[in-house]
Amino acid sequence: MNTQFFAAWIEEIAAAVRSRRDHLTQLDAAIGDADHGANLDRGFTAVREALAAASPQTPGALLVLVGSTLIRKVGGASGPLYGTAFREMGKAFGDAAEVSLAELSTGLNAALSGVQRLGAAAEGDKTMVDAFAPAADALAQAVRDGVKPQEALEAAASAAEQGAKATVPLQARKGRASYLGPRSVGHEDPGAASTALLFGALRTVAAR
Ligand SMILES: [Mg+2]
Repeated sequence: MNTQFFAAWIEEIAAAVRSRRDHLTQLDAAIGDADHGANLDRGFTAVREALAAASPQTPGALLVLVGSTLIRKVGGASGPLYGTAFREMGKAFGDAAEVSLAELSTGLNAALSGVQRLGAAAEGDKTMVDAFAPAADALAQAVRDGVKPQEALEAAASAAEQGAKATVPLQARKGRASYLGPRSVGHEDPGAASTALLFGALRTVAAR
């Protein structure tokens, strides 16, 4: 996977966020402050502009720029959390021109670690970690099993979607939704839903 692949991934995420913006905002309206879709849409619009202006030459440089742009442009918790995820992934890739599936898996695990460090969230807290962790685990398992990239990223995307859906019955223990206590039960976590979009976009780009 080269710089072009990761640029296509980011484009695909931006398109997915745009088309699901209102849905993400509705999820956030139920248990948060109703800005998640708009925040991410604004963030990825800024990311597209930053990438067009800088045209980074390696996957690592591209993802670090994505991350720092999200941190700068997106308020609330999601900017720093997603920004950290992309930056950590970019840093893990170093200055390599191409990234293998195993290296992608390592980079996504570094991203997850960064998110968990910053948000102090574990699986089951009803956050983006509930989609991210099973997706990263599914990809790591697929790498160990020697599965082809397209199939591996299909497994990761499915795990993220299932993880996001599995947040519905949970009570939030981290983030703004945790203020609602038991009233957070019965709603999908917006951060987990947007994380599923990220992994879905990866699957889409790999399938081309
Ligand atoms: Mg919000």
